[in-house]
Amino acid sequence: MKSYALQSIGLAAAAAVLLSGCGGKTDGASASGTPAPSSPPAVSASPAPSAAAPSPTLSPSPSPQPSATPQQAEARFKMSSKTFRFSPVDPETSNKAVLLTFDDGPKEKEELTSMLDTLDKHGAKAIFFVNGYRVKQNPELLKLIDERGQTIGNHSWDHIDLHKKSKAEVQKQLGDVSDLVEELTGKRPQFFRPPFGTGGDVGKEVAKEDGMLYMTWSNGSLDWDLKATKKDPQLVIKNVLEQLHPGANILMHELPWTKEALDSLLTKLEEKGYGFIDPASIDLEQG
Ligand SMILES: [Zn+2]
Repeated sequence: MKSYALQSIGLAAAAAVLLSGCGGKTDGASASGTPAPSSPPAVSASPAPSAAAPSPTLSPSPSPQPSATPQQAEARFKMSSKTFRFSPVDPETSNKAVLLTFDDGPKEKEELTSMLDTLDKHGAKAIFFVNGYRVKQNPELLKLIDERGQTIGNHSWDHIDLHKKSKAEVQKQLGDVSDLVEELTGKRPQFFRPPFGTGGDVGKEVAKEDGMLYMTWSNGSLDWDLKATKKDPQLVIKNVLEQLHPGANILMHELPWTKEALDSLLTKLEEKGYGFIDPASIDLEQG
């Protein structure tokens, strides 16, 4: 088994995206993109075996690259609490890996299923940072994420800016989500991402008290920003590749254009020698 991960989320109404996206201010993540040589636009036909098989075992993705990530089986990663980037615990291990995350769901079955299928196709794991009100609306979709072997993270109940809220309020925003997720899946979330990347000190404190690793991101796909991506899957891919760096913590959402971009994006990351960090391999101690 190896360690790779990802998460995704989406919105149904495009109009709501700007309002509910995670972007904008963050507690420390950099959104600046270094111009990277973009790979050819062609979507390579990846030699993946079956598209939708919910493989319980994570077979390494069939990357054509020779020796990108030698010993993924033992790979474990720790996250910087300042930059939210990942690095291997064992310095001998390749650091060419990224964490895939999808926020703001679960929303819509067809879209979510497509994303789950794409992750399986690439042998990738992710964190789906969910909102409680969405889970309440779509409990079966939350179960689906879990049953398909992906990791569920806590993204607060109402998707509100938490950093000026009282501790009691933040505790309720986080605790109610964790309670509901545990009720539905038997597992309590181990990861927390504040909406808009602004949890403040209270958000960090409550997440820690609840046993969750607090993170924002280090690579924003801008899929939530309609001015930046214009619902164009190619622009989502471009934004991620321009900000790509070893150990990137990639923020995406459960959105139609992100769903469309995902297969090609993961292929391009593989072509560049990147693997996908399994959330299960992340050291939960704060770095
Ligand atoms: Zn969000």
